Amino acid sequence: MEYKLIRAKRRSTTIQIEDDATITVRAPFLMPKLLIDRFVNSKKSWVLKKQQQVQKQISLIKRTYSHGDNYLYLGQNYPLKITNNVRAKLLFADSFELAELLRPKAKILFEKWYKTQANELFARRLTELSAVIQVKFSKLHLSGGIRRWGSYSPRSGTISLSWRLIMAPKEVIDYVIIHELCHIIQPNHSKHFWDVVVRYDANYKSSIKWLKNNGRSLSI
Ligand SMILES: [Zn+2]
Repeated sequence: MEYKLIRAKRRSTTIQIEDDATITVRAPFLMPKLLIDRFVNSKKSWVLKKQQQVQKQISLIKRTYSHGDNYLYLGQNYPLKITNNVRAKLLFADSFELAELLRPKAKILFEKWYKTQANELFARRLTELSAVIQVKFSKLHLSGGIRRWGSYSPRSGTISLSWRLIMAPKEVIDYVIIHELCHIIQPNHSKHFWDVVVRYDANYKSSIKWLKNNGRSLSI
């Protein structure tokens, strides 16, 4: 198996499957290449399984904006209809509708639509959930992060949330918002922090799992 080797000051060897389905192995400086190969080979079935999962997600996000393509919104897939209706600058009802003429601009139009929905829903949930948790934030910032779903800046009181989260189910969005709001109480990820989170989101673990498994597909 081919892999990229990174040597570092560490004791253990780890294997990571990257977003492009390539393999990165991190190993101690002095570990012989032969032993690293042997280690990687011993994990072969796990690596192949993970690679397949990533490849499946990559194929899902290679967009051509064609009639019948599916787009996620709040955890559900909606098909795209390409129409001759020139006024369809990306309409949404039970499906997305886009004028054939505007297909070259589809990516921009989708992003704009998602950001508008994200801004509206996130602002509303932030207000509602901050009242429940009894914390104060100053403003919402929309980011485009794909690994970093949210963050909180204590200095400015800003909560940043990735607009891509609007593609995730509502409970996952709520989890990320609750997570960031709880950082106002507890800045780190200590046990105390998770004790606070679980008070407001009893199912937070399933949302973390959802993001881990589906995060890569929150892309257009
Ligand atoms: Zn955090």
